[in-house]
Amino acid sequence: MIFYCGNDFVDSSSATVNIMSPSVQYGLNVFEGIKGYFNASANTLNIIELKNHILRLLESAKFLDLRHSYNYDTISSIILETIQKNSIKSDIYIRVVLLYEQSGSWSTNESASLLVAPMISKSFDEFKPGLTTKISSWERINGRSLPPRIKAGANYLNSRLAQLEVSRSGFDMAIFLNSAGFVSEAPGSCIFLVRGGDFYTPTLSSSILGSITRNIVINIIRNELGKKCIECDLERVDFYQADEVFLCGTAMEITPVKLLDHISFESSFKSTREIMNFFKKIIMGEIKSSSINLTII
Ligand code: PMP
Repeated sequence: MIFYCGNDFVDSSSATVNIMSPSVQYGLNVFEGIKGYFNASANTLNIIELKNHILRLLESAKFLDLRHSYNYDTISSIILETIQKNSIKSDIYIRVVLLYEQSGSWSTNESASLLVAPMISKSFDEFKPGLTTKISSWERINGRSLPPRIKAGANYLNSRLAQLEVSRSGFDMAIFLNSAGFVSEAPGSCIFLVRGGDFYTPTLSSSILGSITRNIVINIIRNELGKKCIECDLERVDFYQADEVFLCGTAMEITPVKLLDHISFESSFKSTREIMNFFKKIIMGEIKSSSINLTII
């Protein structure tokens, strides 16, 4: 695979950083994961929400005062050029990172480099089985310590603690409570519940990442299904009382939850599958919709 790293397109094996880089030593980087879905009959690669991913990357860099010489247009054209250089004819996950190649301190004012790393990924599976989940005893990081709104590598150490804890108890995925005791998100995805035909999800100030897929799901619920989606504080017990629960994110896509702690949910996941169905049709370009922005190449 050809990556863009530093100032150049290089073979992935030559994309290296100094072992004393603050990105290696302290997790100092900001990044995005972007999905592209290949439509074999139309011979197109549909990149999901490219603009919003680049804007969020730039915003994360700004929050951490992580300096660099790129702007929206340069990042966008480098991503598209990297994809084209690899002549990719399958679904992909593109990792876009601003990081330090050279040694330095966590308080460095040096300029960061851009890495664009496309990887082949699995196709969207609308029949995924549900995950087993458990509320972790670790609290989600918050806006007074390390804002989850910033998509920085170091945030994932909090994710790691929660995920390791629940994996040791045999669950697939952790769910975090925030410092106010409300449900926030999973270690790498957002969470929704369905009750009495309405959808609910934690607010943007519940210590969550401003997830792009969360926005897409809200759009699908409101625009395609014509149903209500309420963003509010949700307690653990709200999820216990739900008919359905699902997770969403770029890599997670939309995935049903079959168990939360000791509570199991409807096995047909009717509303969740309805959203998955619309999601799939839109990303494959089978129906036109303003719910998801596609860059078609
Ligand atoms: N929350 C966290 C902590 C994440 O890492 C992710 C994955 N980026 C998400 C939510 C979902 O965000 P998005 O839909 O933008 O991928």
